[in-house]
Amino acid sequence: MSITNPDTSALDADVIVVGAGMCGLYALKVLRDQGHQVLVLEKGSGVGGTWFWNRYPGARCDIPSLEYSFGFDPELEQEWVWTEHFASQPEIERYLNHIADRYDLRRDIRVGTGVTAMDFDEATNTWLVETDSGERLRARYCVMATGGLSAPNRPNIPGIDSFTGTIVQTSLWPADGVELEGKRIGVIGTGSSGVQTIPELAKVAAHLTVFQRTPAFTWPSQNKVLTDDEQAAIKTRYRELRREQYESFSGTAGTTGAVILQFATDDHPILESTPEEREAALQEKGFSACRIWTDTAKNLDANEMAVELFREMIRRTIKDPDVAEGLSPRGFPLGCKRPVLDTNYFETFNRDNVTLVDLRRDCIEEITPNGIRTTHGLIELDVIVLATGFDALTGALTRIDIRGCEGRLLRNEWADGPHTYLGVSVVGYPNLFIGVGPGSPGVLATYPPQIELQIGWIADFLRYLGEHDLTLAEAQQSAQDAWVEHVNEVSIGTMFTAASCNSWYNGQNIEGKPRVFLPYVGGLPLYTARCHEVAADGYAGFTLR
Ligand code: NAP
Repeated sequence: MSITNPDTSALDADVIVVGAGMCGLYALKVLRDQGHQVLVLEKGSGVGGTWFWNRYPGARCDIPSLEYSFGFDPELEQEWVWTEHFASQPEIERYLNHIADRYDLRRDIRVGTGVTAMDFDEATNTWLVETDSGERLRARYCVMATGGLSAPNRPNIPGIDSFTGTIVQTSLWPADGVELEGKRIGVIGTGSSGVQTIPELAKVAAHLTVFQRTPAFTWPSQNKVLTDDEQAAIKTRYRELRREQYESFSGTAGTTGAVILQFATDDHPILESTPEEREAALQEKGFSACRIWTDTAKNLDANEMAVELFREMIRRTIKDPDVAEGLSPRGFPLGCKRPVLDTNYFETFNRDNVTLVDLRRDCIEEITPNGIRTTHGLIELDVIVLATGFDALTGALTRIDIRGCEGRLLRNEWADGPHTYLGVSVVGYPNLFIGVGPGSPGVLATYPPQIELQIGWIADFLRYLGEHDLTLAEAQQSAQDAWVEHVNEVSIGTMFTAASCNSWYNGQNIEGKPRVFLPYVGGLPLYTARCHEVAADGYAGFTLR
């Protein structure tokens, strides 16, 4: 895109925010409150981001609803009623629409407007943003609220476009639904999305075939209806709960006991346990028996012993030993992939109308007009559900042509992995801020509290720039290099970076993506403290003009 109109007298907004999910809505609220003229551009036809697009049957959050919500307005906290411990997609979408209405946000949101290109105009220190209708909009600052898990991964399976039935991606599920009743359905993928939708699809399908490349580590969510008393008990101590969230490693206060991203902390090594102790753990904790030991987070032998407890629970749950073996994770450690919470996932494989195709033994050769052909033959299908995940953390940014100083293209510069300062800023792309981007805790911490901290920090930064008559902020190379090194350093020795671990955390779910651990695993408190230090030091590590 060439810059045709360098006239800044008519900026379309002080700040353009890309995306109207949780992050974009909060950015609009806080920046507008601060007096900025804000324009939000949203590709979808409604607000909600992840919770707008992922409408597949069974879609549900795996963070307790009272925590997976904003804390910036105590009145909002008190008035909103969550009906379940783990909220369903429709409920979260309603909540985000309520926020859009309650704070009169819609007047500054343009839905149905995708951003295709962005150019930094060095003559005026402004961004020119091009939309999918060819419109060009100019703003001083841009906030990328494009989401970490929002660029769908459509698998490159031969013949995929030849299928004559319905083919649908979980993350692009049509708002008016998909005809599933009595159909022969195939699901590809057993990450969080697949694990959530499989039990729901099995209930309505004539037959459900699950094509599984890697078995999931998944735990029963024990989701339940929230009683008025339970809700009231939390609402009376909401300030304390929010403080616990901000101060916790992963932004969770553990209101349900399901703090899924952490290992046990009491001194309880599995390597020193007896068979009787392990059996007692299985009896008492079921699938969670593998998560109570202290040595599994860093020691691969201990980890493998714990995984064996998980496999034992699968054997005890699944009637057919072959299917049980097929569902059993092997060859990669517990804690390397994002853990999953489910509702009757393993039990679903005991149903007569469900078949597991273990792609470790039987490969997908092609998709034909009638179904999926594996090495063992054609499986005829009416509907194929792609639960194949995302080009995580970087994909939503690299799919836009973002050009910074001297025409540099972000996609090219990140070819060997993302380079950011604090996860929010990139050298050569002044005045561009990323919400929950790579190099920040991002997917490792509960989004709403993290968004409040990070977008709040960006808003403070913009206020500082205004107060000091500055119109340009750019990360410095040395600060960015040091941050990237720190992000890498803290990931070393964790299960996330084990050699046997391939996941979307390290880009290995996408062909050709470099192996780089993408989020910051130092925890939310350390991250926030670092951001505050930078601010207190006059935004150290940034060039300001
Ligand atoms: P995912 O975890 O990346 O899972 C994708 C699945 O598709 C994996 O099993 C993957 O196998 C498989 N797959 C990909 N390409 C394939 C191919 N060509 N052939 C066969 N199998 C293929 O994606 P996701 O399930 O959408 O979840 C992504 C993240 O979104 C989650 O980890 C979570 O953070 C978030 N999420 C959260 C919730 C929730 O709150 N409950 C729900 C949904 C998603 P491999 O493992 O072998 O690559």
